[in-house]
Amino acid sequence: MKITMIHPSIGKIPGQKYIRAWQMEPLPVAQIASLTPKDIDFIFWDDRMEEIPYDKPTDLMIISVETYTAKRAYQIAWEYKKRNVKVVMGGFHTTLCPDEVSQHADVILIGEAENVWENIILDFKNNKLKQKYYGTVCDFGNNIIPDRTVYEGKNYLKITLLESGRGCRFKCEFCSIHNFFKGEHNFRKIETVVKEIKQLKSKKRLYFFVDDNIVANQEYAIKLFTALIPLKINWVGQADITIARNTELMKLMVKSGCKGVLIGFESLSSENLKVMKKNILSGVEEIEKAIKLIHKMGLRIYATFLFGYDHDKLEDFDLVLKFCIRNKLFMVGFNHLTPFPGTQLYKRLEQENKLRYQKWWLNENYTYGQIPFASKIDPDIIENECRRIRRKFYGTKSLLYRMTNITNINSVVMFPMYLSINSLLRKDTLQRKKFPLGDLGFDDAGLEY
Ligand code: SF4
Repeated sequence: MKITMIHPSIGKIPGQKYIRAWQMEPLPVAQIASLTPKDIDFIFWDDRMEEIPYDKPTDLMIISVETYTAKRAYQIAWEYKKRNVKVVMGGFHTTLCPDEVSQHADVILIGEAENVWENIILDFKNNKLKQKYYGTVCDFGNNIIPDRTVYEGKNYLKITLLESGRGCRFKCEFCSIHNFFKGEHNFRKIETVVKEIKQLKSKKRLYFFVDDNIVANQEYAIKLFTALIPLKINWVGQADITIARNTELMKLMVKSGCKGVLIGFESLSSENLKVMKKNILSGVEEIEKAIKLIHKMGLRIYATFLFGYDHDKLEDFDLVLKFCIRNKLFMVGFNHLTPFPGTQLYKRLEQENKLRYQKWWLNENYTYGQIPFASKIDPDIIENECRRIRRKFYGTKSLLYRMTNITNINSVVMFPMYLSINSLLRKDTLQRKKFPLGDLGFDDAGLEY
């Protein structure tokens, strides 16, 4: 029996290469490969970097759907359905929009695959597939270790993705994490994480813990970081700004090989942060103090900001840019606010009748980077301003100035990364402009979104 899994791209422009910064190893594929019984031939195609050979025979096609990749996933599914191959869809978007996804799939998987994948395969073998399967959430399965052999031969960015926990204790208005995980927060056994790292041969690589917040449960975090120390790895992860209040925890992070943290700052406006329900620290001064403490510990900061909330003013784009340069941040993400389905933000904007397109992710006029709702500042201005300040942040002057923060450059692993990431993200700024959702060259006659 053959199963083909596809990781869809966000979109494609015929003749153009895909955005390089978006080419990381897809962890869910390796997880599903590991859950699949070994007597099954598991084939994997990554739509971001290779052509999908639709005519290669397969018994079942599976695809994990995210909101940004939904349109492309439906196009790919269409090709397989034309060839009479049954299509199974899972992923975040499937759980949050099951009715929409089920129009494009024979089978949908709501929740996570770990405790239900084997049943789906058994039912398929016995010709008894159901239309819907429900997986539990925040369940890591029986000590599963992702099977990364599926990545062989594909040219991914040189960073290895790992996870130790799922879920988050916060409830930010724009985020779908707590809805997907139903407020649960769960962790892998630390022995399994350690075993996995030991199995990954190239210790010189940088590891990225994709946990939504690796310090959310400090008791677990302390145990995990302590267990990482003897492994002598270099890693980065996502955390929240409250780590600045815990010097001992930061010291332990550094000792365990942590080189930097991604922190969602989101806004410098306390009014915006209140609406987002993310007012963890109040005021620019307190945030700057926290940054200094984190830098002093030797941790680099990748800060993300969101633009499009009602209290944003035109001058705030430059204020945030200056803030990021002044504080000598390692990396930044200046993101446009996007109402993902299932979030409180989406519901609020729908109630306020502010959505410019219902289901923006399927609308033919929507492109990556757009604000799909009626924002106070003109949506086009937000899109252009995000792009402009991003180019400035990653520009040479800013790059050189941020190198005066010794933390950014004092590591043999992180210094080359500092240079390459800055250049990569500056280069692809224009490539992201008006980037389509779905493949522009796809003949979708007959396919209804
Ligand atoms: S944005 Fe980050 S902190 Fe907020 S709920 Fe989502 S994962 Fe948690």
